[in-house]
Amino acid sequence: MDDINFLKNKKVIVFDLDGTIVNLTADWPTLKNILKKRYIELYGDSCEFWSISGCLSEIVNKNDEQELLNFFDIIRTYEMKHIQDTTPIEEIIYFIKHKEQFGVKGETKLAILSLNTRRTIKKSLELVGIEDFFDLVIGREDVRSWKPNPEGLIMIKNHFNLQKQEMVFFGDLENDIETGKNAEIDVYFIDVLIDLVKRKIN
Ligand SMILES: [Mg+2]
Repeated sequence: MDDINFLKNKKVIVFDLDGTIVNLTADWPTLKNILKKRYIELYGDSCEFWSISGCLSEIVNKNDEQELLNFFDIIRTYEMKHIQDTTPIEEIIYFIKHKEQFGVKGETKLAILSLNTRRTIKKSLELVGIEDFFDLVIGREDVRSWKPNPEGLIMIKNHFNLQKQEMVFFGDLENDIETGKNAEIDVYFIDVLIDLVKRKIN
């Protein structure tokens, strides 16, 4: 992306968290195993455990909201275990603090759409000193259909009363790109922004 003007007309810029703004250090395979074991004990069959979201979706399908909240608690506790080891992705921290240098209007709002729990998001943003830059955070607990389902992006769109073309989403995974496509909202890999910042500050 050579043209920094691609962000000029955006009213809200949405970021994924892990791998996009910071790097978290939770042991995801162990967490998956804990959740998988609990699911089998509760329901007697194995959830389609291709991802944590896949398993949570099965609990949603069973209409077991109380157990869903229990799963959120387990995930939150696990994510917070190593939260102090969170590291910033420096170029993106720079972008967030100096967005006007990249053709972004001062009034443009920033939001987060993440599969991490709200406490993890809030704490990791605090640890890298950017908690005050975001107007809206949509975490694991806030939706019932997770990325690549567009629910979270649509929620952000409705919250700010936006047209789809007034938003853009950045993430680090193909799953994020799929989410943007499913919501029909502009979406880019975060590398696009990292390269833009590198060119600007070097
Ligand atoms: Mg990510």
